[in-house]
Amino acid sequence: MAVAAPPTNAPASIGAIAAGIQAVELEKILSFEAEENTLIGREILYDLRHFSHTLTRLRRFTGCRFDHRVLPISAVAAAATLGDLVAAAIALEEAGAAANAANPVGATVVSVEAGGFARKIRCTGCGQIRTGLWVCGRGFARLPACQSCAQPTAADGSDVAAELELGSGDGRADPGLGLYDIGIGSGDVVCVQRYGYPPRYLQVGNPGEEYLAGTVVIAGCGNIGSHLAGLVARNPRVGRVVLVDPDVYEPANLSGQAVRGCDVFRAKAEVQAEVCGRIRPDLEVRAIVGRIEDLPLGVLRGAVLVSCLDSRVARQAANEKAWRIGIPLIDAAVDAAGLLVRVCVYRPERGAACLECGWDDDDYALLETVMPCAKAASDEKSHGATTCPPNAPPLGCADLTGRSPVAGVRVSSAVAPRPAALGWTYRSDSAHGDGSYRDTGPNKGNGEKL
Ligand SMILES: [Zn+2]
Ligand SMILES: [Zn+2]
Repeated sequence: MAVAAPPTNAPASIGAIAAGIQAVELEKILSFEAEENTLIGREILYDLRHFSHTLTRLRRFTGCRFDHRVLPISAVAAAATLGDLVAAAIALEEAGAAANAANPVGATVVSVEAGGFARKIRCTGCGQIRTGLWVCGRGFARLPACQSCAQPTAADGSDVAAELELGSGDGRADPGLGLYDIGIGSGDVVCVQRYGYPPRYLQVGNPGEEYLAGTVVIAGCGNIGSHLAGLVARNPRVGRVVLVDPDVYEPANLSGQAVRGCDVFRAKAEVQAEVCGRIRPDLEVRAIVGRIEDLPLGVLRGAVLVSCLDSRVARQAANEKAWRIGIPLIDAAVDAAGLLVRVCVYRPERGAACLECGWDDDDYALLETVMPCAKAASDEKSHGATTCPPNAPPLGCADLTGRSPVAGVRVSSAVAPRPAALGWTYRSDSAHGDGSYRDTGPNKGNGEKL
């Protein structure tokens, strides 16, 4: 892999170009442009220094570590308990006339996409242990705070189960357990498996939570995303915009991102939601102060996902979620030192390439090494390259010859674990500029500096 310059904040001009290309490809997708005229399944790499570009077809890599699974998901409007979900799964079976009459009564197990179940949690502050049942794991920062010291808790040791068997006694879960009581929320996708039947994927929540075509989710409101928000809002085909970013703007962002001095120390997603609302007062805008990793799948249904992320972990999560839901992913990255802009469009379907198809061992190694760096950044309550240990490999490796796509250029604290950030519950409807949508609920998102 080629050696790239150390991570650095990309200039605004490069982010704006990446955002412009993404906006053009988004318009093509929303207007059903003939596929050969789009970037679907292809990558474009602009070399702005040498006035050249390379268009590459993305091929499905048979050794890809990602499973390329698209889930058949059904929405369930009124489910309050685990038992309700099982009833919904049974109803679907009968509706599909696929019931196996000879099926003996067997175990019913439930699992939550990208999560697990903890029976024991430990306070990260005072160490107090509490037993019960909670959803936890990657994508689920939902464990309750400590009852004694209010510090975040974590699942204790290896006592996390991937699935939950329903029933009574002996480690089984009571079907009468409330979904919200154990941390399953609106938009979550729960898999119900009954013995002898295919798994059923059920999306919990109100029908109104399910997005329709015309929804665009922008993940990352930094160097690229801050320029993209306004472009997306101006597109009349777009009916709803969801902005996702865990961070706040900092003074150093003024040179590289589409923000004003008065936006500094405000949550990025909220600032860009305001921008969208000013451009199109009729647009439905939702700001989520949180990580794409934590976004329930239901929020993405029917949408186009546009990723403007600068961490490998976050981009891997965006790829996975787009596939699970089966929605297009428009991914962009820039390399400031090389004056490179790359945009790829992935559309989950049989035989199609995913983002990870382009990753090799080096890419996965980088994925693992970002954590300490990101932790350092988080500890110092700062972002960017200056807090990275000197031996940390840069994320923005531009390799024009290998399979590795250009990655984000900056190690982001977005990969650092964040306590109980339920920013996605936050909603901003049409109320722009009145401040009412800054309230992100009890957790206040991640905006420590707000
Ligand atoms: Zn405690
Ligand atoms: Zn793949």
